[in-house]
Amino acid sequence: MKITERMLLSGNEAVALAAHNAGVALGTGYPGTPSTEILETFADLGGHAQWSPNEKTALEVGLGSAFGGGRTLVTMKHVGLNVAADPLFTAAYTGVSGALIIVSADDPGMASSQNEQDNRHYAQAACLPMLEPSDSQEAFDFMAAAIEISEQWRIPVLLRMTTRICHSKTIVKPRPLPPPSPASFQCDIQGRVMIPAYARIAHKKLRQKIKKIAAWNETSGLNKIVEGDQALGIISSGVSVVHAREAAPEASLLKLGMTHPLPLESIRCFAEKMDRCLVIEEGDPYLVDAIRAAGISVEGKDDMYRFGELNVNRVRRIVKGDVSQETPPPKGKPPQLCLGCPHRSVFEILRKLDCIVAGDIGCYTLGVLPPFEAMDSCVCMGASIGVGLGLRRVLPGEQARRVVSIIGDSTFVHSGVTGLIEMVYNPPATGHVVIIVDNGTTAMTGLQEHPATGRTLDHQPTGKVVLEDLARSIGVPNVHVIDPSKNQDQFEKILRESLQKEELTLLIARRPCILAAKKIREYEKAAEIAECECCAEMEE
Ligand code: SF4
Repeated sequence: MKITERMLLSGNEAVALAAHNAGVALGTGYPGTPSTEILETFADLGGHAQWSPNEKTALEVGLGSAFGGGRTLVTMKHVGLNVAADPLFTAAYTGVSGALIIVSADDPGMASSQNEQDNRHYAQAACLPMLEPSDSQEAFDFMAAAIEISEQWRIPVLLRMTTRICHSKTIVKPRPLPPPSPASFQCDIQGRVMIPAYARIAHKKLRQKIKKIAAWNETSGLNKIVEGDQALGIISSGVSVVHAREAAPEASLLKLGMTHPLPLESIRCFAEKMDRCLVIEEGDPYLVDAIRAAGISVEGKDDMYRFGELNVNRVRRIVKGDVSQETPPPKGKPPQLCLGCPHRSVFEILRKLDCIVAGDIGCYTLGVLPPFEAMDSCVCMGASIGVGLGLRRVLPGEQARRVVSIIGDSTFVHSGVTGLIEMVYNPPATGHVVIIVDNGTTAMTGLQEHPATGRTLDHQPTGKVVLEDLARSIGVPNVHVIDPSKNQDQFEKILRESLQKEELTLLIARRPCILAAKKIREYEKAAEIAECECCAEMEE
C-alpha cells in the first residue's frame, strides 16, 4: 500500500494503517469475514501480524503483549468474540500496561455467519470502553483514539465495526501518530493474578474506572452533534449514522462515537431539545434500552427492523413509522462448492451411504445445499465432533452407526481438537467417525494459513501440526489419510467399514482446495529452494 495524503481505504485497511502509524507491536487474530483484511493489510505495511489457532488464543497472546507494555491489536469476527469471551471478561479486570485494542467485526444480516449477534452487549457485559466508527476516516481516527484511551485508562478497548464499515471504501487522510513507549514488564501480582481475593478488588476498581470514563466521555470529542431541525432529532452510531444522514438530512443528529460507557448527560441534553427524538441503530435495541433506562424519553425502531442490515430506505421507513411489509430483496444465485472442489466427492459418498452428518463452519457447510443435502447440523466452529458424539450416545444402534462428524482442517485446529479428545475419553458404544476435510487452507475466508499448513500469515515456513500424528498421539485407534477425489472408491470403502466398527475412526480427506493448490505449490517450492540455499551455505 502506497501511503499518500488522501487515500481511498476500506475500514479494515484504515484500522491497519492506524495500527501501523501508531507502532503497534503485534497483531493477532483468527480470519473471519468481515475482519480478515485488517491483519493482512497490517502485515503488508510491515507490521508483525500472526494468525492464531483461534480467537481465545489470539486474545491471550495479545493480552501478554499488552501486559509487557506493547501496543497490541487483536481482530476477529463477531462470533469469534464468543470464543475469546473467557479471557475478555478477566482482561477487563487485569487491565493492561500498554494498549490492547480488540476489533469485533459484526455481521448484521449474516452475509457470511451463522448468527447476527450484536456485540455491543459484550462491552456492557465485560465493562469495557467501546468505539464505533461510521466510515474509514473514523476507523483510522478511532483506532488511534482507542490506543490513547487504552493507555490512559490501562484498559482493553473494543473497536466495534460492522460489515459495511469494514468493506466500504471512503477517503482517509492518515496522519502520523504519537510513538509508543518502549515495552517493558512491570510486576503487578495483585492486579494481574485473578485469584478471588484480588479479583474482588479488581472488579470494584473496574466499575470505578468505567464510571470515570463515562464522565470523561461527556466531553471526549468522540461524540458529535450535527445541528439541524429540532422537529426531529436522531441519535445513532456506526454505519447507521450514514444512513440516517441520507434518509433525514434535515434532522438534528447526535452521532455517538463511544457507545460504552454512554455519555448519558449529553444524550439527555440533546433529547430534551427535540420535539421528537428517535434512535436509529442496526441490530438489537442496545442504545434505546440504555437511554430509556436512564429515564430519557426516546423512540426506537419497530422490532421488524431488528433483523438484517439497515439501509437508507429502511431508515426512511423507520422515521415514518412504516411497519408495512418490506419488499423482499431479489433472489441471488445460491452459493455452491466450486466445480472441482475436493469436498464434492466426500459429500456424494456421505449422501450415498445415507449418513447422519454433524457439520461445521467452512466451505464444506455448503454440503447442506442441493445437490448434496448431506449435512444435518451446523452450530459453531468445532461443534461437529461434540454434536456427532451426542447423537451417537442417544440414537438407537442402527441410526447411531450412521452418524459422522465432518470438519475442516482450519476449524479442527481452531476448536475441534478438544472434541477429538472427548471422543477418545468418552467413546460412545458404537464408536464414531470423524472426517477432517483437509484442503490445506482456510478457504472460506480467502485462503489464509493456519497451524496445520506449516506456514505463517505471510506464507513463510514454520512449525506444522500434523493432524494424523496428533490424532494418533491422543489415542484415536484408527486413522486414515486419503485423497477423496483421486481415490473415491477407497474412501467409500474405508468409510463403510469404519461405520460398522465399534471403534473410533478419523478419516483425513486430504486434497488442496483448487483455488489454493497453485499457490501452495509455489510456497512449497520457495521453501525447498530456501532450504537448499541454506544447506549450500553451511557446506561452504
Ligand atoms: S474455495 Fe476451495 S474449498 Fe471452497 S468451495 Fe472452492 S474449491 Fe472448495
